[in-house]
Amino acid sequence: MLEEYKQKYTKPVIQYSVLEPNGLVLESDNGLFENFEKKNISDIHPFFETIIPILGESIEKETIFSCVHLNIESKEIISDIILQTFKNNKKPLLVIQDLTTHYNNYQTTAQVRNESVINSQILELKNTYLKEKEAFKNTFIANFSHELRDPLTGILTFSNILSKTKLDPKQKDYIQILNSTSSFLKKMIDDILDISKIESGKLDLSIEPFNFKKLLDEIKFNYTIKAKQKGLEFNYNYDHKLPEVIGGDAKRLRQVITNLLDNAIKFTHNGSVTFNVSLNQIRAQKASIHFEIIDTGIGIKEENFEDIFTSFNQVNKNESYKGTGLGLAIVKYLVELTNSKIKVVSNYGKGSTFSTNINFISNPSLKVTKEIDATKVVFNPSKKYNILLVEDSEIIQLSVLKILATRGQFFLDIVSKPEEVLTRMVDYDNEVDLVLMDIKLKEHRGDEIARQIRKLPEPHQRKVPIIAMTAKVFKEDLKLYKKAGINEVLKKPFDENQLLEIIAKHLE
Ligand code: ADP
Repeated sequence: MLEEYKQKYTKPVIQYSVLEPNGLVLESDNGLFENFEKKNISDIHPFFETIIPILGESIEKETIFSCVHLNIESKEIISDIILQTFKNNKKPLLVIQDLTTHYNNYQTTAQVRNESVINSQILELKNTYLKEKEAFKNTFIANFSHELRDPLTGILTFSNILSKTKLDPKQKDYIQILNSTSSFLKKMIDDILDISKIESGKLDLSIEPFNFKKLLDEIKFNYTIKAKQKGLEFNYNYDHKLPEVIGGDAKRLRQVITNLLDNAIKFTHNGSVTFNVSLNQIRAQKASIHFEIIDTGIGIKEENFEDIFTSFNQVNKNESYKGTGLGLAIVKYLVELTNSKIKVVSNYGKGSTFSTNINFISNPSLKVTKEIDATKVVFNPSKKYNILLVEDSEIIQLSVLKILATRGQFFLDIVSKPEEVLTRMVDYDNEVDLVLMDIKLKEHRGDEIARQIRKLPEPHQRKVPIIAMTAKVFKEDLKLYKKAGINEVLKKPFDENQLLEIIAKHLE
């Protein structure tokens, strides 16, 4: 039975032939092809011409030819061909092995594999391209906003100085417009920089104790005025169970709340804006605090609930609302950095509610490090200070000069080259009390100059407080400045109070 089956189903895949050294086929078992015998092998298929020279070798040797396509008497196969020669003039043996299925499968697999290799290479190229594009975009944004900062510092400083001079009511109005437009421009630049930090994963939260109640009071004060200016009611509900001092990132919390409140006021024309802050719970030194901003404004369609949180997305494009569409993207990211979520519910045409729960550190021993009241920066009245400003932008030179001049307690030297800095530090009789150092000078780097100051021979020279003034405040930049011996960084654009505050902190 088995033999019967074997005979019926055995499919020959191999053919043996014995040849003369000149290529004549002496015997063949017709395993794959018939009519081999008595023919010269080179007449059967042109491939066999290649084996004729080997046939005459009277040595024991196996030669293998892989993946040979044979097309003989309308039968087509892909085969491995083995030619075995022997010593002592024994006739050579030719073995043809049909491996068509094997090679076809192999080819398909190889093809698939090649395609997947190619695809992954394309993907890799795409990723590199995207990464490079991203890096270019972020450097571009950082440099571009840096270039905007010097002129903006000039505008902010001088409109501030101007507003303190004697003005008629019309001029006062103009100054106010100048102030609010330049503040808006500053916010836009800050937002764009934040988004580029977010996209490159370089935005982190700091955790420091701060006076939470004071921060909320300030916000309440500002937004009551803003709402009133638009004819809106502002309600503020503060839960008295809330701890006064908490640990977290005060600056970013303020950014989240003010972005939401700005939107609430912007998109509300009648009615009210309500700001509720309440305590969810305090457990294991963590306070979960609930923030809620409710408005009776234009509302948001449910289909847009997700879109509004993506960068540059504004859903009321046809109406004239000022904005970049970055605020909520930043809010969402900051809230998510605290492992929380921002929620929106809205009734289109009736109003919206944005809410979130954020965890802060709450611990009775938390103390706020002494905050300097910006409006009351005081310097020792019996002293005059020598400030060295290393800066090549005329706008900043003039701004710093004007700000310090209002105090009448400072001598200001302005230089912009490293050699001048070192000469001024070493050769003059008046010791420099503090250095204000621009980082991106036209021909030099401020942090390099700081390094050289730190190597000066006299202790009072090399220990002078150095404040960097720069717009480049990414994490790696800050590390670099610290390494160069810079004490603190004043972010551009700065205003009068920020400059005086930082100087006061470092002068005895
Ligand atoms: P911007 O306010 O600069 O346009 P945001 O990211 O803060 O950017 O907001 C994105 C969009 O979400 C807004 O343009 C507006 O269409 C919608 N939006 C945000 N807050 C409100 C709100 N309180 N009421 C109605 N629409 C809002």
